[in-house]
Amino acid sequence: ALTIGIVGLPNVGKSTLFNALTRNTVLAANYPFATIEPNVGVVSLPDERLDTLAGIFNSQKVLPATVSFVDIAGIVKGASEGEGLGNQFLANIREAHAIAQVVRAFDDPDVVHVDGKIDPASDMETINTELVLADLQTLENAIPRLEKQVKIKKGDPAKLSAYQAAYEVLSEGHTVFSRKDSLDLDQLRDLTLLSAKPFIFVFNCDDGVLGSAERQAELAELVAPAEAVFLDAKLEAELVELDEDEAREMLEMSGQDESGLDKLARVGFNTLGLQTYLTAGPKEARAWTINRGDTAPQAAGVIHTDFERGFIKAEIVSFEDLVAAGSMADAKAAGKVRMEGKDYIMQDGDVVEFRFNV
Ligand code: GDP
Repeated sequence: ALTIGIVGLPNVGKSTLFNALTRNTVLAANYPFATIEPNVGVVSLPDERLDTLAGIFNSQKVLPATVSFVDIAGIVKGASEGEGLGNQFLANIREAHAIAQVVRAFDDPDVVHVDGKIDPASDMETINTELVLADLQTLENAIPRLEKQVKIKKGDPAKLSAYQAAYEVLSEGHTVFSRKDSLDLDQLRDLTLLSAKPFIFVFNCDDGVLGSAERQAELAELVAPAEAVFLDAKLEAELVELDEDEAREMLEMSGQDESGLDKLARVGFNTLGLQTYLTAGPKEARAWTINRGDTAPQAAGVIHTDFERGFIKAEIVSFEDLVAAGSMADAKAAGKVRMEGKDYIMQDGDVVEFRFNV
């Protein structure tokens, strides 16, 4: 499964957020460098459509899609200098498919800030610098090697230009992701550059920031084209301890209509380039995870490889049409159920039944 690595400076609230994500109790200490071990937390992707489907099909259970987060704790500053823990930190980032950077945007005199002050821009800079430095090293090794190959006509000159363009961007202190529109990411893929991974910025906010659309817009602008998620990690940790009604009430009191964890799961899922399609029956209403752009047979293969091999066609109705019709039979009668073949590109909200040979 694709994973999102959670990184951040010490004391920004990573452990607090991660605990909320996993509902497990990991050490959340008020000390810089308190957490070292990588950990995985798997959360549900919120999708109200599943409950609606379960109602229509009388499904016994609801199975949402999931999003996996890896807690990449540990050393940040000096990581690119490649000493022990720094190497491990970068290796863990390299294995993740996207990076969620937790940035402290809460004020609390009781919680030590590792650099002695609250400065989101400078915190982001600190982490980005390590990723950029590590990528520069990667390219400093890769470029001369490729240059030699191009000289003897064994290397691709277009790839060399892509490497050089990335080197330029990194030399100016920018991440590859922040300049992704001007770089050839396909040509860079084989290098698994750290700063090329999709980024999400998770601003751990106090009430002041959570309540200020203006302040949030400023922070979002600072990190564009990366996505920004605003939440209060401490509040999230409390919310997961409450029952549903209490949690909703507390959320409303904080002026939010969705929990920060739900927001993070949604943004994370999208950032990974993923999409779902839906199936429903008496047993379960379920969301299945596919890549955006997958065809119907590829989507069938997520349920079972035999479904992909023996694919004949897919019976598809859009969630909206199904709900409007009220039942599968009525949707069929209304001509809303389509037969799609092997070239069909799956769309968000497709409710599907596959036909296949075994
Ligand atoms: P980490 O080092 O990034 O993993 O940070 P922790 O999650 O261990 O948090 C460090 C300290 O900050 C702990 O004492 C937390 O209780 C506190 N903390 C975390 N999130 C918040 C928050 O949103 N608001 C406030 N006031 N304190 C927080």
